[in-house]
Amino acid sequence: MIQTDILIIGAGPVGLFTVFEAGLVKLKCHIIDALPQTGGQCSEIYPKKPIYDIPAYPSIMAGELTDRLMEQIKPFSPGFTLGERAETIEKDDEGQFIITTSHGTKHRAPIIAIAAGLGCFEPRKPPVEGLADFENKGVEYIIKDPEFYRGKKVVISGGGDSALDWTNFLADGVASEVTLVHRRPSFRGHPDSVQKVMDLAQAGKINLLTNGEVVGISGNGAVQSVEVKHKSEGMISLETDHWIPLFGLSPKLGPIGEWNLNIKKNAIEVDTFDYSTNVPGIYAIGDINTYPGKLKLILCGFHEATLMVQSAYKRIYPDKNLVLKYTTVTGVPGM
Ligand SMILES: Cc1cc2nc3c(=O)[nH]c(=O)nc-3n(C[C@H](O)[C@H](O)[C@H](O)COP(=O)(O)OP(=O)(O)OC[C@H]3O[C@@H](n4cnc5c(N)ncnc54)[C@H](O)[C@@H]3O)c2cc1C
Repeated sequence: MIQTDILIIGAGPVGLFTVFEAGLVKLKCHIIDALPQTGGQCSEIYPKKPIYDIPAYPSIMAGELTDRLMEQIKPFSPGFTLGERAETIEKDDEGQFIITTSHGTKHRAPIIAIAAGLGCFEPRKPPVEGLADFENKGVEYIIKDPEFYRGKKVVISGGGDSALDWTNFLADGVASEVTLVHRRPSFRGHPDSVQKVMDLAQAGKINLLTNGEVVGISGNGAVQSVEVKHKSEGMISLETDHWIPLFGLSPKLGPIGEWNLNIKKNAIEVDTFDYSTNVPGIYAIGDINTYPGKLKLILCGFHEATLMVQSAYKRIYPDKNLVLKYTTVTGVPGM
């Protein structure tokens, strides 16, 4: 059982900044995220896009914003449960919440901060017959640990940043053989990543199949080969240990929708006094919440996190007087 003061669901920018604000008042945080990495939408959808409305940064890449938030919260040593989805919530005899993840990990805290953004990202699955039979038996939609593919034959499908970046990464001495299959002749990803893939293909270090699409999969209990339908060359069979379709992720509110919270249009209704929900002790901040005038912007989420932490502190220590102190006076006290 992981015990903490504030259990944050979602490691997007808002969840991460909550750790900082909580740390300033000496509250300890633990974050759960269904994705294997932190940063939420910033890392998963647009890591290489510049953001122009973060105060004091005329421009900052979304991926860099995540890195800087991680650096900013380091003194407070938050705990992380990554790659696991928060599934169920219950209350114990002492009034603390217990949240159990998809992998059965249990977390206990008096305060829950839901910073779950657009919800859980679910992989977009290709319409290939028998696909479900091979899931986690050679078919994976998210690369959680690249080491898993060391020395293996891998086929990646997709034309975006994720497919390009992982092709480049796995081809760099990790997998024994990498094939990238894309149904169009050109790629949507960042020009640098596209160039790297082209260079690797030219050097014979990867197998690049554009104008092709995986349409079949076979194996005895685990993936052994995939069938590619190629526009000009017809059917091609590729022997492989893994097929990784990286067609993006679509967000779904997921299990949080079943937690008896007031939901309006896929978002959690909150009181703007402190971003509390209808369940005392549970707050919702960032893109996941809704209230009159709500704007789904990172800086608005930062503000919500700041006010939420003040309220959480008063719930945990009702007899203590919390006095606002400037960081210019206190510094970053750490934990
Ligand atoms: C292309 C694009 C460009 C953008 N540009 C800007 C911009 O210029 N400026 C700006 O301010 N905003 C911009 N945004 C919006 C901004 O990214 C969001 O406002 C911000 O990411 C919200 O942060 P968050 O922490 O609330 O949620 P998110 O970033 O969505 O993170 C939520 C996290 O919660 C996790 N999660 C959800 N449910 C569960 C669960 N049950 N268990 C475990 N984990 C869960 C998800 O996996 C996710 O990682 C842009 C968005 C996009 C898509």
